[in-house]
Order: sequence, then structure tokens, then C-alpha cells
Amino acid sequence: MSLAPAPTLSLDHRFARELPELAVAWQADDAPDPRLLLLNEPLATELGLDPATLRTAEGLRLLVGTAVPAGATPVAQGYAGHQFGGFVPRLGDGRALLLGELTDVEGRLRDLHLKGSGRTPFARGGDGLAAVGPMLREYVISEAMHALGIPTTRSLAVVATGRSVRRETLLPGAVLARVASSHLRVGSFQYARVSGDAELLRRLADHAISRHHPDAAQAENPYLALFAAVVTAQAELVARWMQVGFVHGVMNTDNVTISGETIDYGPCAFLEAHDPATVYSSIDHGGRYAYGNQPIVAEWDLARLAEAMLPLFAEEQERAIELAVAALGEFRPQYDAAWSAGMRAKLGLPEGLDDAVAAPLVEEFLILLQAGHVDHTSAFRLLGAAARGDVDPVRNLFLDLASFDAWSEGWRALAPDADAMDRVNPLYIPRNHLVEEALTAATEGDLAPLGPLLDAVTHPYAERPGLERYATPAPADFGTTYQTFCGT
Ligand code: AMP
Ligand code: MG
Repeated sequence: MSLAPAPTLSLDHRFARELPELAVAWQADDAPDPRLLLLNEPLATELGLDPATLRTAEGLRLLVGTAVPAGATPVAQGYAGHQFGGFVPRLGDGRALLLGELTDVEGRLRDLHLKGSGRTPFARGGDGLAAVGPMLREYVISEAMHALGIPTTRSLAVVATGRSVRRETLLPGAVLARVASSHLRVGSFQYARVSGDAELLRRLADHAISRHHPDAAQAENPYLALFAAVVTAQAELVARWMQVGFVHGVMNTDNVTISGETIDYGPCAFLEAHDPATVYSSIDHGGRYAYGNQPIVAEWDLARLAEAMLPLFAEEQERAIELAVAALGEFRPQYDAAWSAGMRAKLGLPEGLDDAVAAPLVEEFLILLQAGHVDHTSAFRLLGAAARGDVDPVRNLFLDLASFDAWSEGWRALAPDADAMDRVNPLYIPRNHLVEEALTAATEGDLAPLGPLLDAVTHPYAERPGLERYATPAPADFGTTYQTFCGT
């Protein structure tokens, strides 16, 4: 394997240096014939990388991990996790590598990470590889989330490796180059905790404070303040997911970040018909990670973080538990506040409107959506037109017209702000049938559908002519039992 230095890139390895117990130095598998499928030029520029250089043979070797910059130490990260409620003490990056950290043009530290780069010591039964389809899927959905203003890991590139991956059939393999403010997870703390090394747990918390929540360092109890900051970040994140109808699909504790960024786009999808019971993941039989359960599950995951951090909160366990319970108790009020502020904006309600008026209006609208199996994204977007006086397009989505009319009358009497609504209610989201269409074509070697899809979902708010199909729900023949697959 060639390990020629990649030009113009200087990577730090602060994670590996400060937390060697959580890092195993490792190398990517060879990629016989790397071919660039997608490159995020604006993100590359933001990172201080030259897109033209990344497109060269040398650049592609960097993006699949077979050439690392001089001095870089790629590592597989160790972490634990509760998977569907069951604790696994040693998960870790089975098919991923942290190449290192770089400082972007605004001075922020960002992880450069590869997914699908080959087996690592954490691979367990897995092959360490990833197929083109799922890596493009993570690229499309994470970039859509970013464009929606939702904190997320970013996607820099997808490079086909030229190697096949055996799934149900043989599929073309790929590596995703991913960027994150860090890859620290709730599971990272669980891993440190079960190691029994109290000093490691403290060092991990210090690392997290310095990278994500520096204000916590000034608090009377910095580790409790760190926990509280993660609670806030996750409460706000999940409220945003709920507002756009995003279903993560696998909210295991190893997929919950300390930064508050959305991570690990596996079986995720956006709602069409609004229904809290919606599950897309083929392995989520019990509906644990259903759309409507996400706030509850996030709180559960944060309780696992509190358990892992307990020895840091206070010397005496009783006291530590008391502090943890109080801090976790902030999740619900913070989630509720983020949810209701976002929903008021989605309905274009005037600021300062009494909650006794706003809350039932939101609640009743959601009940109408659910009862009528109404497309979540279209309904909110068309409410903007209704606020301008064009009520029929949204009205026609509902079955129970009398109930809709009664609701609409009360809502319009509050003079909702249509322009403000159009700035928060997206027109273009990654609709499941269009994502499938683009990924199926790409897997067969046709990248054509991917470009317009990405263009639509990365500019989600302003209506553009010619993009009507990206604003339209799936045709009836796509069915209502869409399934997504994990670990693929
Ligand atoms: P995920 O569901 O993608 O968050 O993955 C859960 C765990 O399974 C992580 O430890 C992954 O690194 C590991 N994993 C998923 N797919 C593979 C694979 N094909 N080979 C090795 N490890 C994998
Ligand atoms: Mg994961």
C-alpha cells in the first residue's frame, strides 16, 4: 500500500494523543480502483482543502485512506453502546478510521473520518466495508440536514473503491469521508466507565469540555455542567428532527454524540404521512426508535450517559445520583421549549402569543395530520400559501374538511406570517422514493439522478421551477411500507 504523503494537509491527532486508551492505530484497506462519486466542494473549501487537489489520484488516495499525510496517525476509536437496550461493552469503529483533526478556515477543530475503509480490531463479524448506496445515502441525507440548519456530521466525499462488497448480492464498495466536530459519543463515556479507569473517564470528560462545551470548565461542577450541556444540545437536536419529520432509526447510545450533531445515517428516513408510529428500519421490530418515540429514547440514552459519568459528579454516590437526576430532569422542559418554539415558527404564529392559544393549535394540527395521513412536509409548506390566502392546496390534503376548516379559521385569525413560514418549512426534503431511485441508479453506475436530488435538498426553502417532483410525495405505487436497512 502506498503511504505517500498527501500534499497541503496537516492533520493533528489530539484524540489519539489525549485518549490513547480509546484509539487503536490502524490503516485503511487497499482500494484497487478509486473513483470519485461525489465531492463536497464548498465543504472542502471550508476545511481549507483544495477541491482540485482532492480530485487528483493522490487526493483520492487520501479520501480512501491509502495515502495519509506525513505525521498523521489514523485510528479506530473504541466505544461501547446500548444497542436496542442491550449493553455491548466493546463496539468501536468496526469499519471506520479517524484520520485526524484539522483546523478549518474559521479556526474550528474538525474530525476527518472514513467509513467503509476496511476491518479494524473492532470489526467483530463484519467485513469492514460499505456499499456505494448506503454511503451516498449518508452523504445526501446529512447534507440535506445541514441545509435544513440541523446540527450534523458532514459529508466530504464518496469514493468508489473498485472492490465488491458481499451483501445479499455483490455490490460496489465505497468509502465515505466524513467530517464532524468530533466523534465522541455517549458510548465513548460508557467504554471509559466500564474500563474501570477513573482517570481515563476524567480525561475523556476534559477532552469533551474543551472541544464542545468550554463554558463548562468555569462551572462550579464542570463535569455536571458538561452533562447538562449535552442534555441541552440533544433536547434541541431531537426537537429539530421532530419538526422536519426525521426518523433516525437507530438511536443506540453509540449513535448519540456529545457535540449534539446528528451522526450515523443508517436506516434513517423522513416521514411522509405524519404518524408517530412510523418506523422505517427493517430491524426495529418493536418500534423502539419510531418517529414519536425519539424524545423519550434520547432521554433514555442521556440517562445512560449520566450513569457512565456518575463518579465525576460527586464523590459520594447518593449525591452523584441526586445531581444526575436533577440535570436529566432538564431534558423535558428544554425539549418542550425547543419543540414549541419551532412549531410556533412552523405555523407562523406571532411572537409573544399566549401558550394557551399556541399549544392547542399545534396539537390539533398534528392530530389532523395524523388522522388524514397527510404528508408532513407538504402540509407545513402549503400552510404558507394558506397564510397568503390560497387555502385550497393545503385544505385538499385533509379528509375531514370540516375539522380542517374549523382549525384553519382559528389559525388564520392570528395573521400567520407566510414569509417567515417559508423560511422554516422546507419544500424539498430527501423523499424516500427519490433517494431510492438515485441510489439504485448509482449502484448500477448511473450518477445522473443524484445531482438534481442533491441540488434540491441542499437548497430546501426557496421554490425553484423545474423541481416539482422533489416537492411531491411518493406515488401510490411506492407503497406505504418503505423499509431501510442498517449496517449495510
Ligand atoms: P452502526 O449501526 O453503523 O452505528 O454500527 C454499529 C456497530 O457495528 C459499529 O461498531 C460499527 O463499526 C459496526 N459495523 C457496522 N457495519 C460493519 C461492517 N460492515 N463491518 C464491521 N463493522 C461494522
Ligand atoms: Mg454507529
